[in-house]
Amino acid sequence: MKYTINKFRKDYPNDDVCLDMIFKLRFAKMPCCPQCSQQTTFKRIVGRRCYQCSDKDCQYQLYPTAGTVFEKTKTSLVDWFYVIYLMTSTRNGVSGKEIQRQLGVTYKCAWRMGHQIRLLMANGGLEGMLSGVVEVDETYIGGKAQNKHKKVREAVNQNGKGVNSPKVAVMAMLERDGNIRTQIIPKATGAVLKPIINDNVKGGSVVITDGHRGYKGLDTSFEHSVVNHEQDEYVIGKMHTNTVEGYFSHLKRTIKGTHIHVSRKHMKKYVDECTFKYIHRSKGQEMFHTILSRVV
Ligand SMILES: [Zn+2]
Repeated sequence: MKYTINKFRKDYPNDDVCLDMIFKLRFAKMPCCPQCSQQTTFKRIVGRRCYQCSDKDCQYQLYPTAGTVFEKTKTSLVDWFYVIYLMTSTRNGVSGKEIQRQLGVTYKCAWRMGHQIRLLMANGGLEGMLSGVVEVDETYIGGKAQNKHKKVREAVNQNGKGVNSPKVAVMAMLERDGNIRTQIIPKATGAVLKPIINDNVKGGSVVITDGHRGYKGLDTSFEHSVVNHEQDEYVIGKMHTNTVEGYFSHLKRTIKGTHIHVSRKHMKKYVDECTFKYIHRSKGQEMFHTILSRVV
């Protein structure tokens, strides 16, 4: 369900409410006060980001934002929460410029906030192997040759210069109606691609790829189905890679449309952001709370 801005504003109208939320996420499950070991309550100290044990002899203090991204920042908690909200509710991501404009902070500050939230989106939180029908594909992002994907890919294969390519190769493994794993790879050769598939996809699964030679000779525990785009093959039943291609076009729209230029160094964070959003798609409010719970 969509998490609307009105609902968000109602949930988090001011810093006190935000701090209470962080306190709850961090300490609500604490069985007793860490100092006096009693089942006491903690009361907010007005004007400080601090809660104190209500036992008069103890008065132990807890700082909910200590050690989190919220600790050493002049940005208010409401603003932080709002940027998390924006990033989870905007389909193609939010640029540093947009954060700067909306919060009235410096670009440096806005950019830093975006990246810190992106770090919280790393590892969709998935465990175990992918299984069932799994689409596997790779793409290249960055540089100018965005429409030359096949040619670039072939050039990479033939001369093995994938590492020096200005483009960043991204591999995705997508479980139909399920989860996705993405990874930045040095180059799209069999030696790189195949071990990654073995590590992430359960034996017995149906692996669907295009005709790229890097996928030839997959482990025999997989049922490998090849879709040949070059020969304009029609989609027959379940055997297509449309879902993973859809993911890649979303990733490209996010990077080219919203962020314009992303360096190789930061690419992983944007890929992680898109992957996180894919996994939590159609769960707006949950996505917001997942990020919040990762802060603490
Ligand atoms: Zn205490």
